Amino acid sequence: MGCTGSLAGPRSPASSYLVQTRDKAGRLWTASLDMGSGAFGALQAVMPPEALDFVGISHLHPDHCADLTGLAVYAKYRPGGAMASLPVYGPQDTPHHLAELQYSHDPDSEGGDFNYGVWSQGVGIPVGPMTITPYRVLHPVEAWGFRLDGPSDSVPGRQVTMGYSGDTDTCDGLTEVAAGTDLLLIEAAFEQDRDVARGVHLTGERAGQVARAGRAKRVVVTHVPPWNRAALTLSAVASKYSGPIYLAKRWASYVI
Ligand SMILES: [Zn+2]
Ligand SMILES: [Zn+2]
Repeated sequence: MGCTGSLAGPRSPASSYLVQTRDKAGRLWTASLDMGSGAFGALQAVMPPEALDFVGISHLHPDHCADLTGLAVYAKYRPGGAMASLPVYGPQDTPHHLAELQYSHDPDSEGGDFNYGVWSQGVGIPVGPMTITPYRVLHPVEAWGFRLDGPSDSVPGRQVTMGYSGDTDTCDGLTEVAAGTDLLLIEAAFEQDRDVARGVHLTGERAGQVARAGRAKRVVVTHVPPWNRAALTLSAVASKYSGPIYLAKRWASYVI
């Protein structure tokens, strides 16, 4: 639903990705990874928000969580009654952070009527037939990347794995996220010759190195800020990784 790095951009909201899979009975399960600036509008364009089964927040920067506010308002006030309590997993402070975003001055209040959960290293959360497993990654705030395991949509009976980096520099957690993935959704927010800070984001080169070391089968490059030269980032990834590389775009979908 959104892939622009660090803020909503002119062509896309900020980070927010729907992951869907069907169980054996044919029931479609939908998880949203992140709900960044502008993403809740995009969500309403593709599905009724009531059909969401799970929201997983990688970290509490606004480009990954700000539109939980819209989801909370929708869930509480939509005509026809409140939505059944939606599981929202995130870092420790997620409920209070959301309360502050909603202009609450009560330090004990929790934002929204969600069923909150807290990520714990390597502890997978089932969402229908898929499992979302968090790994701590390297960013200036508590941040998580994820491995998602579930049934393939393209080859019946096969199990597949997707990785999502969240925001991170290279680290052990990202290595876990990337290993053996059928599809790796990985950020590349920095440009090598301009952004020299470490411990914040990946460059295209570092994203490519991670994909190569993890033997990822396909790579989707995301979180490119509007001021970056995306073509430069893609060629930087390709300088280290020889598999198929895609630039994330709003409304793009990938089947594994
Ligand atoms: Zn970000
Ligand atoms: Zn961030």
